[in-house]
Amino acid sequence: MVAGDPARDWCEIRQKPRARSPSTTQNAMAYKVTLIPGDGIGPEVMQATVRILQATGVKFDWEIFQAGAEAYAKYHEYIPKELVESIERTRVGLKGPVTTPVGEGFPSINVALRKKFELYANFRPIRNLPHIPTRYPAVDLIIVRENTESLYSGIEHEVVPGVVESLKIITEKASTRIARFAFAYSRKNQRKKIHAIHKANIMKLSDGLFLRCCRDVAKEYPEITYGEHIVDNTCMQLVMNPYQYDVLVMENLYGDIISDLCAAFVGGLGFVPSANLGDSCAIFEAVHGSAPDIAGKDMANPTAVIRSAQLMLRHLGEHHAADKIHDGLEKVYRTKDKLTRDVGGNAGTSEFADAIIQFMETSTDVPAQAESSHA
Ligand code: NAD
Repeated sequence: MVAGDPARDWCEIRQKPRARSPSTTQNAMAYKVTLIPGDGIGPEVMQATVRILQATGVKFDWEIFQAGAEAYAKYHEYIPKELVESIERTRVGLKGPVTTPVGEGFPSINVALRKKFELYANFRPIRNLPHIPTRYPAVDLIIVRENTESLYSGIEHEVVPGVVESLKIITEKASTRIARFAFAYSRKNQRKKIHAIHKANIMKLSDGLFLRCCRDVAKEYPEITYGEHIVDNTCMQLVMNPYQYDVLVMENLYGDIISDLCAAFVGGLGFVPSANLGDSCAIFEAVHGSAPDIAGKDMANPTAVIRSAQLMLRHLGEHHAADKIHDGLEKVYRTKDKLTRDVGGNAGTSEFADAIIQFMETSTDVPAQAESSHA
Protein backbone atom coordinates (compact mmCIF):
# COMPACT_ATOMS: atom_id res chain seq x y z
CA MET A 1 0.00 0.00 0.00
CA VAL A 2 1.14 3.53 -0.63
CA ALA A 3 1.17 6.74 1.34
CA GLY A 4 -1.52 9.23 0.33
CA ASP A 5 -3.91 6.40 -0.37
CA PRO A 6 -7.00 6.99 1.78
CA ALA A 7 -7.30 3.26 2.10
CA ARG A 8 -3.76 2.50 3.09
CA ASP A 9 -4.67 1.39 6.58
CA TRP A 10 -8.09 0.16 5.67
CA CYS A 11 -7.30 -3.52 5.60
CA GLU A 12 -6.67 -3.42 9.31
CA ILE A 13 -10.27 -2.72 10.23
CA ARG A 14 -12.42 -4.77 7.98
CA GLN A 15 -15.72 -5.67 9.49
CA LYS A 16 -16.65 -9.22 10.27
CA PRO A 17 -18.06 -11.23 8.65
CA ARG A 18 -15.90 -10.21 5.74
CA ALA A 19 -17.14 -9.56 2.26
CA ARG A 20 -17.89 -12.71 0.37
CA SER A 21 -15.18 -14.33 -1.70
CA PRO A 22 -15.45 -13.99 -5.45
CA SER A 23 -18.27 -16.05 -6.87
CA THR A 24 -17.15 -18.85 -9.11
CA THR A 25 -20.57 -20.09 -10.12
CA GLN A 26 -21.80 -17.74 -12.83
CA ASN A 27 -18.83 -15.57 -13.64
CA ALA A 28 -15.42 -17.08 -12.88
CA MET A 29 -13.84 -15.33 -9.89
CA ALA A 30 -16.03 -12.25 -10.07
CA TYR A 31 -17.04 -10.28 -6.98
CA LYS A 32 -20.75 -9.73 -6.75
CA VAL A 33 -21.24 -6.08 -5.84
CA THR A 34 -24.42 -4.04 -5.71
CA LEU A 35 -24.02 -0.88 -7.76
CA ILE A 36 -26.26 2.15 -7.22
CA PRO A 37 -25.49 4.71 -9.95
CA GLY A 38 -27.35 7.51 -8.10
CA ASP A 39 -28.52 10.67 -9.84
CA GLY A 40 -27.17 14.14 -10.67
CA ILE A 41 -23.44 13.60 -11.27
CA GLY A 42 -23.80 10.06 -9.89
CA PRO A 43 -24.00 8.15 -13.18
CA GLU A 44 -21.05 10.11 -14.64
CA VAL A 45 -18.67 9.56 -11.73
CA MET A 46 -19.81 5.98 -11.22
CA GLN A 47 -19.30 5.08 -14.85
CA ALA A 48 -15.78 6.52 -14.75
CA THR A 49 -15.07 4.53 -11.58
CA VAL A 50 -16.42 1.25 -12.91
CA ARG A 51 -14.20 1.57 -16.00
CA ILE A 52 -11.19 2.13 -13.75
CA LEU A 53 -12.13 -0.83 -11.55
CA GLN A 54 -12.41 -3.01 -14.63
CA ALA A 55 -8.97 -1.87 -15.78
CA THR A 56 -7.46 -3.26 -12.56
CA GLY A 57 -8.15 -6.78 -13.83
CA VAL A 58 -10.32 -7.63 -10.80
CA LYS A 59 -13.62 -9.05 -12.04
CA PHE A 60 -16.97 -7.80 -10.84
CA ASP A 61 -20.44 -9.11 -11.34
CA TRP A 62 -22.40 -5.89 -10.85
CA GLU A 63 -25.97 -6.00 -9.62
CA ILE A 64 -27.22 -2.59 -10.71
CA PHE A 65 -30.20 -0.93 -9.02
CA GLN A 66 -31.43 2.60 -8.82
CA ALA A 67 -32.61 4.31 -5.63
CA GLY A 68 -34.52 7.52 -4.96
CA ALA A 69 -36.69 9.39 -7.45
CA GLU A 70 -35.44 7.35 -10.42
CA ALA A 71 -36.28 4.09 -8.67
CA TYR A 72 -39.71 5.42 -7.78
CA ALA A 73 -40.47 6.14 -11.41
CA LYS A 74 -39.72 2.51 -12.25
CA TYR A 75 -40.69 0.48 -9.18
CA HIS A 76 -42.96 2.85 -7.19
CA GLU A 77 -40.54 2.41 -4.32
CA TYR A 78 -37.68 4.74 -3.34
CA ILE A 79 -35.62 1.78 -2.18
CA PRO A 80 -36.83 -1.14 -4.29
CA LYS A 81 -36.99 -4.50 -2.57
CA GLU A 82 -34.76 -5.88 -5.35
CA LEU A 83 -32.04 -3.46 -4.21
CA VAL A 84 -32.43 -4.49 -0.58
CA GLU A 85 -32.25 -8.17 -1.51
CA SER A 86 -29.18 -7.52 -3.64
CA ILE A 87 -27.29 -5.87 -0.75
CA GLU A 88 -28.35 -8.67 1.57
CA ARG A 89 -26.89 -11.09 -0.95
CA THR A 90 -23.68 -9.31 -1.97
CA ARG A 91 -23.02 -7.54 1.36
CA VAL A 92 -21.01 -4.94 -0.56
CA GLY A 93 -22.31 -1.85 -2.33
CA LEU A 94 -20.73 0.91 -4.39
CA LYS A 95 -23.06 3.87 -4.42
CA GLY A 96 -23.39 7.14 -6.30
CA PRO A 97 -24.96 10.19 -4.66
CA VAL A 98 -28.74 10.35 -4.46
CA THR A 99 -30.65 13.64 -4.35
CA THR A 100 -32.88 14.37 -1.36
CA PRO A 101 -35.59 17.01 -1.84
CA VAL A 102 -35.12 20.02 0.46
CA GLY A 103 -37.88 20.83 2.94
CA GLU A 104 -40.41 18.47 1.35
CA GLY A 105 -40.78 15.13 -0.40
CA PHE A 106 -39.34 11.74 0.42
CA PRO A 107 -36.81 11.18 3.23
CA SER A 108 -33.10 10.73 2.47
CA ILE A 109 -32.37 7.45 0.71
CA ASN A 110 -28.78 7.69 1.90
CA VAL A 111 -29.79 7.83 5.55
CA ALA A 112 -32.42 5.12 5.01
CA LEU A 113 -29.89 2.69 3.53
CA ARG A 114 -27.45 3.28 6.37
CA LYS A 115 -30.16 2.60 8.92
CA LYS A 116 -31.68 -0.34 7.06
CA PHE A 117 -28.36 -2.23 6.99
CA GLU A 118 -27.10 -0.90 10.35
CA LEU A 119 -24.08 0.67 8.68
CA TYR A 120 -23.29 2.41 11.90
CA ALA A 121 -19.76 3.61 11.23
CA ASN A 122 -19.06 6.18 8.57
CA PHE A 123 -15.31 6.17 8.00
CA ARG A 124 -14.04 9.29 6.19
CA PRO A 125 -10.30 9.64 5.65
CA ILE A 126 -9.22 13.20 4.85
CA ARG A 127 -5.89 12.96 3.05
CA ASN A 128 -4.25 15.01 0.35
CA LEU A 129 -3.35 13.43 -2.90
CA PRO A 130 0.13 14.49 -3.95
CA HIS A 131 0.49 17.36 -6.45
CA ILE A 132 -2.79 19.12 -5.66
CA PRO A 133 -2.02 22.56 -4.30
CA THR A 134 -4.11 23.27 -1.19
CA ARG A 135 -3.79 25.66 1.74
CA TYR A 136 -2.88 22.72 3.97
CA PRO A 137 -0.45 20.11 2.58
CA ALA A 138 -0.23 16.60 4.00
CA VAL A 139 -3.40 16.61 6.05
CA ASP A 140 -4.10 13.19 7.54
CA LEU A 141 -7.33 13.16 9.51
CA ILE A 142 -9.87 10.45 10.10
CA ILE A 143 -13.50 11.36 10.69
CA VAL A 144 -15.60 8.66 12.33
CA ARG A 145 -19.24 9.63 12.10
CA GLU A 146 -22.08 7.81 13.86
CA ASN A 147 -24.41 6.92 11.03
CA THR A 148 -27.72 5.72 12.44
CA GLU A 149 -29.21 8.20 14.90
CA SER A 150 -29.05 11.75 16.35
CA LEU A 151 -31.20 14.28 14.44
CA TYR A 152 -31.02 11.94 11.43
CA SER A 153 -33.48 9.63 13.14
CA GLY A 154 -35.99 11.53 10.97
CA ILE A 155 -38.58 11.74 13.76
CA GLU A 156 -40.33 15.07 13.23
CA HIS A 157 -43.87 16.21 13.78
CA GLU A 158 -45.99 19.31 13.88
CA VAL A 159 -47.05 19.93 17.47
CA VAL A 160 -49.53 22.65 16.51
CA PRO A 161 -49.53 24.78 13.34
CA GLY A 162 -46.40 26.91 13.41
CA VAL A 163 -44.54 24.64 15.84
CA VAL A 164 -42.58 21.54 14.83
CA GLU A 165 -40.45 19.17 16.83
CA SER A 166 -37.42 17.16 15.59
CA LEU A 167 -36.20 14.48 17.94
CA LYS A 168 -32.52 13.95 18.52
CA ILE A 169 -32.03 10.34 19.52
CA ILE A 170 -28.79 9.35 21.21
CA THR A 171 -28.44 5.88 22.67
CA GLU A 172 -25.81 4.30 24.86
CA LYS A 173 -25.64 1.36 22.45
CA ALA A 174 -24.91 3.39 19.32
CA SER A 175 -22.57 5.82 21.10
CA THR A 176 -20.53 3.01 22.66
CA ARG A 177 -20.43 1.14 19.35
CA ILE A 178 -19.08 4.14 17.40
CA ALA A 179 -16.59 5.03 20.13
CA ARG A 180 -15.36 1.45 20.14
CA PHE A 181 -14.99 1.55 16.35
CA ALA A 182 -12.89 4.74 16.55
CA PHE A 183 -10.64 3.39 19.31
CA ALA A 184 -10.24 -0.05 17.74
CA TYR A 185 -9.36 1.54 14.41
CA SER A 186 -6.86 3.84 16.11
CA ARG A 187 -5.18 1.03 18.01
CA LYS A 188 -4.84 -1.14 14.90
CA ASN A 189 -3.50 1.73 12.83
CA GLN A 190 -1.23 3.34 15.41
CA ARG A 191 -3.25 6.54 15.54
CA LYS A 192 -2.32 8.43 18.68
CA LYS A 193 -5.15 10.80 19.50
CA ILE A 194 -8.95 10.79 19.47
CA HIS A 195 -11.19 13.79 20.03
CA ALA A 196 -14.89 13.35 20.72
CA ILE A 197 -16.75 16.30 19.20
CA HIS A 198 -19.91 17.43 20.99
CA LYS A 199 -22.22 20.17 22.18
CA ALA A 200 -22.78 18.81 25.65
CA ASN A 201 -22.63 22.28 27.18
CA ILE A 202 -26.08 22.87 25.65
CA MET A 203 -27.43 19.34 24.99
CA LYS A 204 -26.43 18.02 28.36
CA LEU A 205 -28.45 14.83 28.25
CA SER A 206 -27.99 13.68 24.64
CA ASP A 207 -24.42 14.81 23.93
CA GLY A 208 -23.64 14.21 27.60
CA LEU A 209 -24.52 10.53 27.11
CA PHE A 210 -22.43 10.39 23.94
CA LEU A 211 -19.43 11.77 25.84
CA ARG A 212 -19.88 9.41 28.78
CA CYS A 213 -19.82 6.45 26.39
CA CYS A 214 -16.66 7.77 24.70
CA ARG A 215 -14.97 8.27 28.08
CA ASP A 216 -15.83 4.73 29.17
CA VAL A 217 -14.41 3.22 25.99
CA ALA A 218 -11.33 5.49 26.21
CA LYS A 219 -10.41 3.83 29.54
CA GLU A 220 -9.80 0.57 27.65
CA TYR A 221 -7.25 2.28 25.38
CA PRO A 222 -4.77 4.00 27.69
CA GLU A 223 -2.17 4.34 24.92
CA ILE A 224 -4.47 6.67 22.96
CA THR A 225 -4.75 10.27 24.09
CA TYR A 226 -8.40 11.17 24.48
CA GLY A 227 -9.77 14.71 24.28
CA GLU A 228 -13.12 16.46 23.89
CA HIS A 229 -13.88 19.61 21.92
CA ILE A 230 -17.12 21.52 21.50
CA VAL A 231 -18.22 21.42 17.88
CA ASP A 232 -18.22 25.16 17.15
CA ASN A 233 -14.74 25.56 18.60
CA THR A 234 -13.66 22.49 16.61
CA CYS A 235 -14.59 24.23 13.34
CA MET A 236 -12.39 27.20 14.23
CA GLN A 237 -9.55 24.97 15.50
CA LEU A 238 -9.65 22.91 12.31
CA VAL A 239 -9.34 25.95 10.07
CA MET A 240 -6.56 27.41 12.24
CA ASN A 241 -4.56 24.20 12.47
CA PRO A 242 -5.93 20.89 11.20
CA TYR A 243 -2.68 19.13 12.15
CA GLN A 244 -3.59 19.27 15.85
CA TYR A 245 -6.19 16.54 15.25
CA ASP A 246 -5.75 12.88 14.42
CA VAL A 247 -9.03 10.93 14.71
CA LEU A 248 -12.35 12.69 15.34
CA VAL A 249 -15.42 10.79 16.52
CA MET A 250 -18.83 12.42 16.57
CA GLU A 251 -22.55 12.01 16.16
CA ASN A 252 -24.29 12.14 12.81
CA LEU A 253 -25.00 15.84 12.15
CA TYR A 254 -21.64 17.14 13.36
CA GLY A 255 -19.94 14.47 11.23
CA ASP A 256 -21.85 15.57 8.15
CA ILE A 257 -20.90 19.22 8.55
CA ILE A 258 -17.31 18.71 9.64
CA SER A 259 -16.66 16.31 6.75
CA ASP A 260 -17.48 19.00 4.19
CA LEU A 261 -15.36 21.52 6.08
CA CYS A 262 -12.41 19.10 6.08
CA ALA A 263 -12.92 18.29 2.38
CA ALA A 264 -11.76 21.84 1.69
CA PHE A 265 -8.34 20.99 3.20
CA VAL A 266 -7.63 18.40 0.53
CA GLY A 267 -8.99 20.05 -2.60
CA GLY A 268 -12.76 19.99 -2.11
CA LEU A 269 -15.65 17.57 -2.21
CA GLY A 270 -14.32 15.92 -5.33
CA PHE A 271 -11.66 14.19 -3.19
CA VAL A 272 -13.12 12.66 -0.05
CA PRO A 273 -14.22 9.02 0.00
CA SER A 274 -16.18 7.17 2.62
CA ALA A 275 -17.12 3.72 3.81
CA ASN A 276 -20.41 2.99 5.58
CA LEU A 277 -19.71 -0.05 7.70
CA GLY A 278 -21.86 -2.43 9.62
CA ASP A 279 -21.36 -5.89 11.07
CA SER A 280 -22.72 -7.66 8.02
CA CYS A 281 -22.28 -5.35 5.04
CA ALA A 282 -20.61 -2.22 3.74
CA ILE A 283 -21.52 0.50 1.26
CA PHE A 284 -18.84 2.72 -0.26
CA GLU A 285 -19.64 6.20 -1.54
CA ALA A 286 -18.19 9.68 -1.89
CA VAL A 287 -18.83 12.28 0.78
CA HIS A 288 -20.23 14.66 -1.84
CA GLY A 289 -23.81 14.82 -3.06
CA SER A 290 -25.43 14.78 -6.49
CA ALA A 291 -24.11 18.28 -7.38
CA PRO A 292 -27.09 19.34 -9.52
CA ASP A 293 -25.24 22.53 -10.52
CA ILE A 294 -22.76 20.55 -12.65
CA ALA A 295 -24.75 17.39 -13.42
CA GLY A 296 -24.79 16.23 -17.04
CA LYS A 297 -21.99 18.63 -18.01
CA ASP A 298 -19.09 16.16 -17.89
CA MET A 299 -17.48 18.42 -15.28
CA ALA A 300 -17.57 16.32 -12.12
CA ASN A 301 -14.38 15.10 -10.55
CA PRO A 302 -14.74 11.35 -10.00
CA THR A 303 -11.75 11.13 -7.61
CA ALA A 304 -13.89 10.83 -4.45
CA VAL A 305 -15.81 7.86 -5.86
CA ILE A 306 -12.61 6.34 -7.23
CA ARG A 307 -11.06 6.59 -3.76
CA SER A 308 -14.24 5.08 -2.28
CA ALA A 309 -13.77 2.20 -4.72
CA GLN A 310 -10.21 1.84 -3.41
CA LEU A 311 -11.65 1.46 0.09
CA MET A 312 -13.95 -1.21 -1.32
CA LEU A 313 -11.03 -3.04 -2.92
CA ARG A 314 -9.19 -3.06 0.43
CA HIS A 315 -12.36 -4.41 2.05
CA LEU A 316 -12.38 -7.21 -0.52
CA GLY A 317 -8.69 -7.88 0.09
CA GLU A 318 -7.68 -6.65 -3.39
CA HIS A 319 -4.77 -4.50 -2.24
CA HIS A 320 -2.75 -4.72 -5.42
CA ALA A 321 -5.67 -3.36 -7.47
CA ALA A 322 -6.16 -0.54 -4.95
CA ASP A 323 -2.47 0.32 -5.21
CA LYS A 324 -2.69 0.33 -9.00
CA ILE A 325 -5.52 2.84 -8.92
CA HIS A 326 -3.66 5.02 -6.47
CA ASP A 327 -0.62 4.95 -8.73
CA GLY A 328 -2.75 5.96 -11.75
CA LEU A 329 -4.44 8.78 -9.83
CA GLU A 330 -1.13 10.04 -8.55
CA LYS A 331 0.34 10.12 -12.06
CA VAL A 332 -2.62 11.98 -13.54
CA TYR A 333 -2.38 14.62 -10.82
CA ARG A 334 1.39 14.83 -11.23
CA THR A 335 1.28 15.37 -15.02
CA LYS A 336 -1.66 17.84 -14.68
CA ASP A 337 -2.76 17.46 -18.35
CA LYS A 338 -6.12 15.86 -17.74
CA LEU A 339 -7.47 17.47 -14.61
CA THR A 340 -11.12 18.35 -14.06
CA ARG A 341 -12.27 21.96 -13.64
CA ASP A 342 -12.58 21.95 -9.85
CA VAL A 343 -8.78 21.70 -9.72
CA GLY A 344 -8.02 24.12 -12.54
CA GLY A 345 -8.03 21.76 -15.54
CA ASN A 346 -10.48 21.48 -18.40
CA ALA A 347 -10.76 17.72 -18.89
CA GLY A 348 -14.14 16.05 -18.64
CA THR A 349 -15.02 13.29 -16.19
CA SER A 350 -14.51 10.52 -18.73
CA GLU A 351 -11.31 12.02 -20.14
CA PHE A 352 -9.89 12.10 -16.62
CA ALA A 353 -10.82 8.43 -16.19
CA ASP A 354 -9.23 7.57 -19.57
CA ALA A 355 -5.98 9.16 -18.42
CA ILE A 356 -5.95 7.07 -15.23
CA ILE A 357 -6.65 3.90 -17.19
CA GLN A 358 -3.88 4.73 -19.65
CA PHE A 359 -1.39 5.17 -16.81
CA MET A 360 -2.57 1.97 -15.17
CA GLU A 361 -2.13 0.04 -18.40
CA THR A 362 1.37 1.35 -18.99
CA SER A 363 2.38 0.99 -15.33
CA THR A 364 5.45 -1.07 -14.61
CA ASP A 365 3.96 -1.93 -11.22
CA VAL A 366 6.38 0.31 -9.38
CA PRO A 367 4.53 1.69 -6.37
CA ALA A 368 3.75 5.41 -6.39
CA GLN A 369 6.28 7.60 -4.65
CA ALA A 370 5.37 8.17 -1.05
CA GLU A 371 4.08 11.67 -0.43
CA SER A 372 6.04 13.80 1.96
CA SER A 373 5.15 13.79 5.62
CA HIS A 374 3.76 16.79 7.48
CA ALA A 375 7.17 18.29 7.87
P1 NAD B 1 -23.00 18.56 -3.19
O1 NAD B 1 -21.95 17.79 -2.50
O2 NAD B 1 -23.80 17.83 -4.20
O3 NAD B 1 -22.34 19.84 -3.90
C1 NAD B 1 -21.71 20.89 -3.18
C2 NAD B 1 -20.76 21.67 -4.09
O4 NAD B 1 -19.62 20.83 -4.39
C3 NAD B 1 -21.38 22.01 -5.45
O5 NAD B 1 -20.90 23.28 -5.85
C4 NAD B 1 -20.87 20.94 -6.37
O6 NAD B 1 -20.76 21.33 -7.72
C5 NAD B 1 -19.50 20.64 -5.78
N1 NAD B 1 -19.14 19.23 -6.00
C6 NAD B 1 -19.64 18.15 -5.37
N2 NAD B 1 -19.12 17.04 -5.83
C7 NAD B 1 -18.26 17.38 -6.79
C8 NAD B 1 -17.39 16.66 -7.65
N3 NAD B 1 -17.33 15.33 -7.62
N4 NAD B 1 -16.64 17.33 -8.55
C9 NAD B 1 -16.68 18.68 -8.60
N5 NAD B 1 -17.46 19.43 -7.80
C10 NAD B 1 -18.25 18.79 -6.90
O7 NAD B 1 -23.94 19.15 -2.06
P2 NAD B 1 -25.37 19.84 -2.17
O8 NAD B 1 -25.44 20.71 -3.37
O9 NAD B 1 -25.59 20.41 -0.84
O10 NAD B 1 -26.39 18.63 -2.33
C11 NAD B 1 -26.97 18.25 -3.56
C12 NAD B 1 -27.86 17.04 -3.35
O11 NAD B 1 -27.06 15.90 -2.97
C13 NAD B 1 -28.90 17.22 -2.24
O12 NAD B 1 -30.11 16.64 -2.68
C14 NAD B 1 -28.34 16.42 -1.08
O13 NAD B 1 -29.33 15.93 -0.23
C15 NAD B 1 -27.65 15.29 -1.83
N6 NAD B 1 -26.55 14.63 -1.06
C16 NAD B 1 -26.44 13.29 -1.22
C17 NAD B 1 -25.41 12.64 -0.58
C18 NAD B 1 -25.29 11.16 -0.78
O14 NAD B 1 -25.88 10.61 -1.71
N7 NAD B 1 -24.54 10.45 0.07
C19 NAD B 1 -24.47 13.35 0.19
C20 NAD B 1 -24.60 14.73 0.29
C21 NAD B 1 -25.66 15.39 -0.35
